[in-house]
Amino acid sequence: MDKPVFKPTPRTLLRRKRADLIVEEIKRWIVAGELRPGDRLPQETQLEELLQSSRGTVREALKVLESQGLIEITRGAKGGARVSNVSYEKTSSALRNFLYFQPLTWSDIYRVREKLEPMMAASVIDMLTPADIAALRQTVELCKLGITGEVDPRTHRIAELEFHSILSQACANPLLRLLCRFINEMLRDLSISDPRNIIVPKDSNFAVDAVRFHSALIDAFEAKDAERVRTLMNQHVHDAGCIVSQREEEVDQDNLLIALPVETLRPRRTIDRRGPAAPKPKSRKTKANK
Ligand SMILES: [Zn+2]
Repeated sequence: MDKPVFKPTPRTLLRRKRADLIVEEIKRWIVAGELRPGDRLPQETQLEELLQSSRGTVREALKVLESQGLIEITRGAKGGARVSNVSYEKTSSALRNFLYFQPLTWSDIYRVREKLEPMMAASVIDMLTPADIAALRQTVELCKLGITGEVDPRTHRIAELEFHSILSQACANPLLRLLCRFINEMLRDLSISDPRNIIVPKDSNFAVDAVRFHSALIDAFEAKDAERVRTLMNQHVHDAGCIVSQREEEVDQDNLLIALPVETLRPRRTIDRRGPAAPKPKSRKTKANK
C-alpha cells in the first residue's frame, strides 16, 4: 500500500496562516478593550517582536485588518496603524453582499421587520427627546401632504420610512439599531430606486393607515405606554407587509440590495425641523405612477 505523500506547505501559505493568527490576536486586543478607536497600534518593529513574526507576516495581517475596516494605515514619518470604528456603511455593504446571493423576498424582510420594529419602538420610549417627537410629527405632516398629492410619492415614502429611522437612531441596543436601520434603508433604497416600486400614497389604504398608525404611535410614545407602542407597531408593520407582499411580483427584486448614493436620498421637500412647509398649490399635484 502506498504511503501518503506529505508535501511541505509552501512558505507563502504558512505565512498567510500565521498572518490570520495575528489578525485574530489583534482583534482580541481590541475586543478586550485594550485598544480603542483612535488608538495607535505598536510600530511594525514592536509588533514583530511582540508577535514573534517576520515583517512580511505582520504587514500581511495589517492589510487584512485594514480591508476589514478595523484599522487605518497612514504613511509618512508620523504614520502608522490606528484602530478605527467599523463604519455602518461598510457593515451594511458587507451584509448586502451576503444577501445578494440569497433568495430574499419582500415577505422575508417584512416577516423579520414585524418582530424587530415593535421591540425597537418599545425600547426607545424613554430615549425620545422633544426634538425627536417634533421630527416624528413632521414626517406625519409630510405623509398627509403625500395623500393629498401635494408632495410626490417618492418624498412621501422617504418621510414614511424617516419616521422609523428616527426611532431606530434612538435605540440603545446596538444590534437592534443596526438591524432596524439596515432593513429600513434597504426598503427606502428599493422604493425610490424605481418609481414602480413606490406604493402610490394617493387613494391607497397603505398611506392613510400609515398616517393613522404613526399618529397613534406618537401619542403612545408621549403617554409612555410600551404595550400600546408594541401592539401598534406590530399591526402597522404586519399590515404594510401584507400590502407589499401582494405586490411582490410587480416590483424589481434586482434592486433589493443596491445601496443608493446619498445625494439621491434627499427628499425633494426637506423635512424642516421648525415645522411643515406650506402646501403647494393644487395645480402641482403629482400624477400617480400606477
Ligand atoms: Zn410606518
